[in-house]
Amino acid sequence: NQRFVLASRPVGAPTAENFRLEEVDIPALGNHDVLIENHHLSIDPYMRGRMSDAKSYAEPVAIDGLMVGATVGKVLESNHADYHPGDWVLAYKGWETHSVVNGDTLIKLNPDLAPVSYALGILGMPGFTAYMGLLDIGQPQEGDTLVVAAATGPVGATVAQIGKLKGCHVVAIAGGEEKCQYARENLNVDACIDHKADNFAEQLAEACPQGIDIYFENVGGKVFDGVMPLLNTGARIPVCGLVSQYNNTALPDGPDRLSQLMGTILVKRLTIKGFIIFDDYAHRYPEFAHDMAKWVGEGQIHYREHAVDGFEQAPQALIDVLEGRNFGKMVVNIK
Ligand code: NDP
Repeated sequence: NQRFVLASRPVGAPTAENFRLEEVDIPALGNHDVLIENHHLSIDPYMRGRMSDAKSYAEPVAIDGLMVGATVGKVLESNHADYHPGDWVLAYKGWETHSVVNGDTLIKLNPDLAPVSYALGILGMPGFTAYMGLLDIGQPQEGDTLVVAAATGPVGATVAQIGKLKGCHVVAIAGGEEKCQYARENLNVDACIDHKADNFAEQLAEACPQGIDIYFENVGGKVFDGVMPLLNTGARIPVCGLVSQYNNTALPDGPDRLSQLMGTILVKRLTIKGFIIFDDYAHRYPEFAHDMAKWVGEGQIHYREHAVDGFEQAPQALIDVLEGRNFGKMVVNIK
């Protein structure tokens, strides 16, 4: 069994030295335990947070501790009545080639419904995040203008497409022309703007002639600066993530715009609400699972994976996601 542990805490962007690859024995199975051969490892932006010991909504990974993460794999051995060798399962344990977990914590997957790795993306945590953040906090109404960045990633692309299903004018934001072209052609969005363009803020204003009713916050930073002056009265901002800030070691340079933001919240009567998907919405998972399976099955929602082959690629895959070098949901193929 190979596994990656956290060797040291990153300062700024993570580097390969922050991870250590180890060879360890597979532990003996206890009552109700299942041994899984992991085939796909999910790489997600939140993992950067777990590498840091700053206070957050979840405990950090300990130094020398297993890097946390979701995997999809095949059952090899089972001491649990519900699981048998050959079953496909979703586990939440970590960056390792084999996992031993209590079967009660697993979700069984049906490989005939969709590729099993979709459980790490559109049919799993990122899809659920997009669904709840947009529908519950964003409250999309027909004709609303919805803006979402990281628009080719699993959360952003799903937000954009659900927004279109709900009749919104959707303006996507992505890094680079290739991603924007993909968004325009495959995600059915009304416009896509490259946040690296010099005149990004002007392009955004042009694409939102009626202002912005929903800004689904995935990235923060410069993108939010462009959005703030365009917000309409009563706009909703689900605060999902701030990926442009995760590698920062200090607050950005001034001027301090907090009073401008507070003034905008007051005058425009904004609703700004953060959420942590499973902490806040676990009870609504069945509703999501039903709707998303239907939309994906009917081809109404398009999904793109960025798969890299080889377990040893996992650290670089996370480094890449934090720099926008993924194009679609980042998954490491272990087998
Ligand atoms: P993505 O696969 O979309 O990867 C992150 C993307 O962010 C990159 O590909 C890049 O896209 C973009 N990005 C990176 N740096 C910058 C930058 N400086 N400025 C603008 N964009 C940048 O990730 P996910 O879809 O998995 O996650 C999207 C967001 O949702 C993240 O913030 C994540 O933390 C959050 N999240 C929150 C959850 C919750 O419960 N609140 C649960 C799951 C995810 P591009 O090249 O297009 O800019």
